[in-house]
Amino acid sequence: MTRIDLHSHSTASDGSDAPADLVRKAHALGLAALALTDHDTLAGLDEGEAAAEECGLEFIRGCELSARGERGELHILGLWIPGTHPELENFECMLRELRERRDKRNRTMTERLNALGCRLDYEEVLAEARGESVGRPHIAAALLRKGYAKSAEEIFNRWLGSKGSAYEPKQVLQPEEAVRHIAALGATVALAHPRLGRHSDVWLDATARELTAHGLSAVEAYHSEHSEADTRFCTDLAARHGLALCGGSDYHGKLKPDIRLGTGKGGLRIPLGILEHLKAERRKLGLPM
Ligand code: AMP
Ligand code: ZN
Ligand code: FE
Ligand code: FE
Repeated sequence: MTRIDLHSHSTASDGSDAPADLVRKAHALGLAALALTDHDTLAGLDEGEAAAEECGLEFIRGCELSARGERGELHILGLWIPGTHPELENFECMLRELRERRDKRNRTMTERLNALGCRLDYEEVLAEARGESVGRPHIAAALLRKGYAKSAEEIFNRWLGSKGSAYEPKQVLQPEEAVRHIAALGATVALAHPRLGRHSDVWLDATARELTAHGLSAVEAYHSEHSEADTRFCTDLAARHGLALCGGSDYHGKLKPDIRLGTGKGGLRIPLGILEHLKAERRKLGLPM
């Protein structure tokens, strides 16, 4: 079966493969298409696109934004983020602001870790990041390097996860803001991994309805952490609201070693028809690809 992967992270945010390496890996695995969707940055896209052109892989420029509604965190994906667009400057400005907020939050969590007995300079956290979007995985990497824990899992459980003692919530966009920012670029807007947040079915349904009015156009039904029942729920959700489907592994490289590009934990199968349908929808609207 021809595979595609429409959700992945590189060193531009918290993945461990450089964008060009990620693309070459996707090509070597026989994937037909790859979307690079780093958190709060577009910095890896040009490198990824150039590498994809060289090896003949279809590359989709993307990004992932975090948002918070009254009921918890949601992630929003943008696919086919344009390389040039009148709204792009505004978008980049918004991303810069989000990264500055990340920086403040990372410093707060580092201070808390110090108060909890982990001696850690923020410089050591920055040294773990190879791109401009820095976050908890880089703090975790610094703690691991210094021997404060044996695994990222342990670190997230103890300190950095939402119930951890050094956790600081992220100041993020409202879901409808995130959707509107991405839609303004003429990109495809997708609700990422809807089943990861433990949101109720009813709330997800109401949220999908509201976000659709703001420009949401797809639901990430296929994801490494989705069960078959989750995928079915998402497929039904999309059908109820007239949304397209998308899917990806959410590959991060070494950070989440059990998640492989294209195949997730081994069971992920994203039909090629998903990509064809997304493209047909864009064509209908006269949007570029
Ligand atoms: P941040 O954007 O700084 O809040 O960091 C969020 C990122 O941390 C996610 O995108 C994941 O890559 C990673 N992450 C969250 N929870 C865990 C966990 N329990 N184990 C490993 N990585 C995690
Ligand atoms: Zn991540
Ligand atoms: Fe996400
Ligand atoms: Fe992701």
